[in-house]
Amino acid sequence: MATAVREIADLRITDHALRPIAERVAAGERLTSDDAIALFESHDLLGIGALADAANRAKNGDRVFFSSNQHINPTNVCVLRNTCVFCSFARLPKEDGAYTRTLDEVLAEASQAKSSPTREFHIVGGLHPKLRLSYYTDMIRALREAYPGVHVKALTAVEIAHLARIERSSVPEVLLALKEAGLTSMPGGGAEVFSTAVRATIADRKLAGEEWIAVHRDAHRLGIPSNCTMLYGHVETARDRAEHLAMLRDLQDETGGFLTYIPLAYHPDHNELGDQMGWTGRETQGVDDLKNIAVGRLVLDNVPHVKTHWPMVTPFLSQVALSFGSDDLEGTVVYERVYHEAGAETPMEMLYDDLVRLIRGAGKVPVERDSLYQPVRTFD
Ligand code: SF4
Repeated sequence: MATAVREIADLRITDHALRPIAERVAAGERLTSDDAIALFESHDLLGIGALADAANRAKNGDRVFFSSNQHINPTNVCVLRNTCVFCSFARLPKEDGAYTRTLDEVLAEASQAKSSPTREFHIVGGLHPKLRLSYYTDMIRALREAYPGVHVKALTAVEIAHLARIERSSVPEVLLALKEAGLTSMPGGGAEVFSTAVRATIADRKLAGEEWIAVHRDAHRLGIPSNCTMLYGHVETARDRAEHLAMLRDLQDETGGFLTYIPLAYHPDHNELGDQMGWTGRETQGVDDLKNIAVGRLVLDNVPHVKTHWPMVTPFLSQVALSFGSDDLEGTVVYERVYHEAGAETPMEMLYDDLVRLIRGAGKVPVERDSLYQPVRTFD
C-alpha cells in the first residue's frame, strides 16, 4: 500500500495540509485526532477519497459486501420522544401514529421480502415504557424458528440499557438472555455523537457516550459482535467527530468486537431540531457524506469494514462511496422507517439484483454476506 499511497500523494492530493497525513497512511501509522480534524476541514475531497480507497483496498481488495436483510421496527413508542430532538421516528404512547406490533404482526411482516430469502433481521425501535425483555426474546426465538439459519442483529445499546432498567437487571444479564434466545450481533445505533455538549443539545436524556461504549464492551466480552455509528450533519464540530472516532477506535483496540462502521446522515425533516434551526429540507450534502465515509475508513484503521447506508444518502451516492473507502452497500432492507419518517425520499427496499448491479457498475466484486461478514455468495 505504501507505494500506492505515495503515488496518490504526488498525483492526487492538492491540499498541502494533507501531505503529512498521506505520509503517515503510507507508513502504516495511526492517524491522530488533529489529522482527523484536518481531513474533515479540507476541501480536497478527491485526495481524501483516494487515500481512503487505498486503505480500503488494502483490507478488502475489490470485494463489496451486501446482505439480503430486512429491517423490523417493532414499536415507535419511546420514553425519550420529547428529548431526542433530532428524531422523527418516535411517538408518545397515545400520540397519532404510535404503534406496537404483536408477535404475529412481526412474523407476518418478516415474510415480505420480495427478491431474495432473508438472511438477517435488523431489529431496532423505541424505548417502550412497558415492553419487557420477554417480548424481545420471544420475537428472536420465533424468528429463528421460522427462518432456520437466519441471523438476528437486534437492539441498540440504548434499548439494551433501557431493558436492563425495566427488568431491574444488569446489561450483561439482558445481553445473555438475548444471546440465548438467538441474538447474533448488535446494531450500532444510538451512538449519535459522544460529545457531552452535543448530546446536551440533541439528546439530553439519552445514554451518555461512555455508557454506550460500556454496553458494547459488555457485548463484545460476551461474544456478541456489534456495529458502530456516528450521526453527522447537525450541530457537531470537526473536533466532536474526531473525538467520537477516537473513542470507537479505543474500544476496538480493547475488544476487536466491531464489525463495521456506518456514518449516519442526519435528516432534518419532521423533527424539532430541524424545525428550530430552520433546516427543513436541508439534508446533508454529497461532499460531506463522502468525506464521512473516507475519514471513517482512514481513522478507524482497526475496524474491518465501512458501510454506506443507501436509504439515507441515496443508492447512487452509495455507489460512488465504494471508491471513497466503503466496502459495504447495506442490503435489501425491505422496510426502512426511521429515516423515511425524517424525510428520506429513497425507496424503502432495494431489490437483490439491483444491489448486485450497483456494485458491478462500480467495477467491484459483489459478495453477499451474513451478519458476521461470512461470504454467502460471490459474483465473480
Ligand atoms: S432516537 Fe431512539 S431513543 Fe431517541 S426518541 Fe428516537 S427512538 Fe427514542
